[in-house]
Amino acid sequence: MQNQASQQQLLGHPKGLFYLFFAELWERFSFYGMRALLILYMTQHLLYSDDISFGIYAAYGSLVYVTPLIGGFIADKFLGFKKSIQLGGILMALGHFILAIDTPIAFYAALALLIVGNGFFKPNISSFVGKLYEEGDDRRDSGFTIFYMGINIGGWLSPILCGWLGITYGWHYGFGLAGIGMLVGLWFFRSGIKNGVFGDKGGVTNTAIYNKKIVGLKSNILVIIGALLAVPLFALIVKFNEFEQYIVWLVSFGTLAVLVYIYLQSSKADKGRLLVLVYFTLLGCLFWAVFEQAGSSLTLFAKRNVNLKFLNASQSNSLNSAFIVLLALPFTWLWAYLSKINKNPNSPIKIGLGLVLVGVGFLIFGSSGNFMDANAKVSMLFLVFGVFIYTLGEMFFSPIGLSKVTELSPKKFVSFLMGLWFLSSFYGHFFAGKIAKLTSVVSGEESVFTQGVFASIVPKITGLDYNAVRSLDAAHVQLYSYVSVFTGIGLVTLSVGLFAVLISPFIKKLMFGIK
Ligand code: GLN
Repeated sequence: MQNQASQQQLLGHPKGLFYLFFAELWERFSFYGMRALLILYMTQHLLYSDDISFGIYAAYGSLVYVTPLIGGFIADKFLGFKKSIQLGGILMALGHFILAIDTPIAFYAALALLIVGNGFFKPNISSFVGKLYEEGDDRRDSGFTIFYMGINIGGWLSPILCGWLGITYGWHYGFGLAGIGMLVGLWFFRSGIKNGVFGDKGGVTNTAIYNKKIVGLKSNILVIIGALLAVPLFALIVKFNEFEQYIVWLVSFGTLAVLVYIYLQSSKADKGRLLVLVYFTLLGCLFWAVFEQAGSSLTLFAKRNVNLKFLNASQSNSLNSAFIVLLALPFTWLWAYLSKINKNPNSPIKIGLGLVLVGVGFLIFGSSGNFMDANAKVSMLFLVFGVFIYTLGEMFFSPIGLSKVTELSPKKFVSFLMGLWFLSSFYGHFFAGKIAKLTSVVSGEESVFTQGVFASIVPKITGLDYNAVRSLDAAHVQLYSYVSVFTGIGLVTLSVGLFAVLISPFIKKLMFGIK
């Protein structure tokens, strides 16, 4: 606790939190601003077909979450947070600016730079937040909730600003603004270092390895060379994304091998905690696979089958971030208050409730089928309320997951295990693509969610029956596809979440004293 007291404090949290808050806010500003333009840029400017564009988008969206394993591992081994985060930020800023060059090679190189850069930036800035709190400090969950608010301020404003610039004045202005956002983020981070708010935290973790020379080159230079060599490799994977499934296998076996290695050298308590982290990550795969419908099938549902008011389909994506910004402070207070009266639920319960709420959110979308109008459109209230409920789920799940990774991980592997947590987003995006494809059955073939156990329950919730809709027009069949899939995944997520709450006492035991 002494170390804690010696850190400079602001608004009841370590001052460093606010520098990381603004650095991450601007990094996410660049990340989501560029992402909001990407699919439109490919289909309208590069004139790629929908299928090719979806393939590239999904490969990019998932691969940005695979590199954190490597970036986290390198930071743990010797590079430390400060240097890794700066390297990642520079690579990403380069990526955004290279997107402004109008050739296919520049396009793929830019995406690959973003993929590699994110690997150094994202896990390490998240682990750095955890490092600001000592073990057992009750403020950790609130700290991560504040940090999460920064993420979403960036994610909320940038699609509006970069989208407006990109579409009104030209794509490259939009991408350029994203690049500037990244530079601002880097500037915040460096000023935190300059002002000494991180103290001696986040420095090189192993000076012997750091100073070691291999073929006459210091290891930090080798990391930069390695990162640059990885760029053409990722560019090729994004371009030939039909082979991404092999990467999924490779990553799965590679990660399993490292996990076994960490497990074998861990103490009894660390072994239990590691198992809990793997359990949270597995739940995360389901969480993100459902959640990430937002940018794909849910946006198309909004466009085709929702009576939109005030917002267009693409803008409806910003509702989630806007709700997070509204909810973050109340949640921070809630966790602090519940801790004070000793009633803060343990993290296995919170994680379970997160899944339950995402499930309920999707059931709300699903139930909208009961209230369609003659054009097979439903009220926007379903969309807004469903997003609100699944955002509540995100508040229970995502910041708490980040916080627990930093508390449950053996000290030597925090960032690698943060990479493991982000791997759930990699798998999530991968499976989200497969789920989204189930909604594109306009001809009305049955999907997995309208057969077997789902056959009797799904139509009861959606109010739509295939035999009735197929005699109507394509819009009705399309609505039927959306609401059936949303209901099906809602039911699965809700059930898994309830099960997770039920077994939470057993999981808690494996955490050896951590809540
Ligand atoms: N929206 C959050 C962020 O951008 C969560 C991302 C994730 O873990 N998939 O950090």
